[in-house]
Order: sequence, then C-alpha cells, then structure tokens
Amino acid sequence: MITRRSLLVGSAAVAGTLAWAGTAQAAPRGSVTELRGGNLAVKVRTRAGWGANEDLRFKDGQEIWPLAYFKAQTLTVHHEGGGTGDDPAQRVRNIYQLHAVDNGWGDIGYQLLIGRDGTVFEGRYSGTDCVPVFDTATSLNAVNAGHVVGYNAANIGICLLGNLSEVEPTAAALESLARTAAVLCKRIGLDPLGTTDYVNPINGFAKTVPTMAVHRDWDATTECPGTKLAPKLPQVRARVAEILRGRH
Ligand SMILES: [Zn+2]
Repeated sequence: MITRRSLLVGSAAVAGTLAWAGTAQAAPRGSVTELRGGNLAVKVRTRAGWGANEDLRFKDGQEIWPLAYFKAQTLTVHHEGGGTGDDPAQRVRNIYQLHAVDNGWGDIGYQLLIGRDGTVFEGRYSGTDCVPVFDTATSLNAVNAGHVVGYNAANIGICLLGNLSEVEPTAAALESLARTAAVLCKRIGLDPLGTTDYVNPINGFAKTVPTMAVHRDWDATTECPGTKLAPKLPQVRARVAEILRGRH
C-alpha cells in the first residue's frame, strides 16, 4: 500500500490525461513475457498486456520519473490495501492512474503486482527491452521504483492486489508470489530465509531487514501487507526456498 506520502519525486500534477480505456480481452501482441532467474521463470503480463497508457509517464514531452537502476538487495511485499472490481488488469490500471497522475509520480510505484488469480503484472516501466524489473535480460540491476519511503533504490516491490487486512490472500496469489520471489532470489543470489544489511545507494539510509521483507519491516506504522498476509510470510519464504531447492 502506498500513500501519497510514501514517495517524494516532485509533485507536478498531470492534468487532463485521459484514462486508458482498453479491455482485458484486447490484449495486444507482446502481452506476456517471462521473468527469468537461472533455470526458473515466471510469466509476466507486460505493461502493453494490461493496457498501460505510456503517455501518462510524460509531461511536455519529458519523462516525469527518469529511469535509474541499482543492483537489487532485497524484495518487499505489499498489498493494494484498497481497490475494487474483479478485473485485475483494471485494478492495475487504477493504481497506475493513482500513482502516475493523481500523485504526480509519473509511473506506478511497484516493480511487480499479483492478482488474486495469480497473474503477475509488470509494474514500473524498466526500458524498451520487454524485460520486467531489470535493465537487461541478464542484469541484476533493478529499476528504481517507489514503494517504501526512504528505502526504494535496490529494493524490488511486489504488490498483491486486494485489501489483505479484510480478505485472505488466495492460494494462487501466494504461489505466484513464491514463484516470483524464487525467480528473483535465484537471479540476484538472495537467500529468502536470510536477512540483508540494506544500504540505500542514493541516500545512504541503512536497515537490516528480512531479505524477503514486507512493508512493515521498513515502517512499523503501516499495516501493509495486511493483517491476513503478514503472518503467512514465513510459509511463503519457506515455499520460495523449496522452489529454489528444485521442488517446482
Ligand atoms: Zn505497502
């Protein structure tokens, strides 16, 4: 969950931008790609696949939130904390509208999002190469996004859709979360059961957190990722470790 206070990247409001009117049924070519880590991979619905209006990232021809990449150190799990509707792609578009336009950030704050049906969605734009999260197909450098105030650079944010303080996460979403985290851990060389001495490469902020963290590990004042998801993190981390050991 991200509030307006979670990120300060300038407050230029983008007024008069039309909301995307695409539909889930009209998924264009290139709508699904793979995020890979070693011998593991997970399918990811691309920004084109969920109908991201890329115009929302620009103002007066300039990219509102320029891309920057940092070697990934940690993963952080969030929940949407709100939202309505049964179409996960529409909910992702709504979050994009909120972050990019209403909050004035110029893009969505999470690198990845996961629907209740288990679909994994590409979040923050990371370049023209159709590789989610990272700058190249083999790179460990993750695009900088905005999901934990003060601790964003080198921290990959994964958001489960729904208010997971009110409803239980689905088994499909939990399994997708585990598989996605396993791919990322394999690729980057992270231990999902370990801790990380995180240091923000931009501002020097440091904190020791679970390597597969949740938002409240960084900020004790938030209940994100929700009171029904947070207690399940130990079993999700265990499942990630199991996948990494070869039990797919
Ligand atoms: Zn959060």
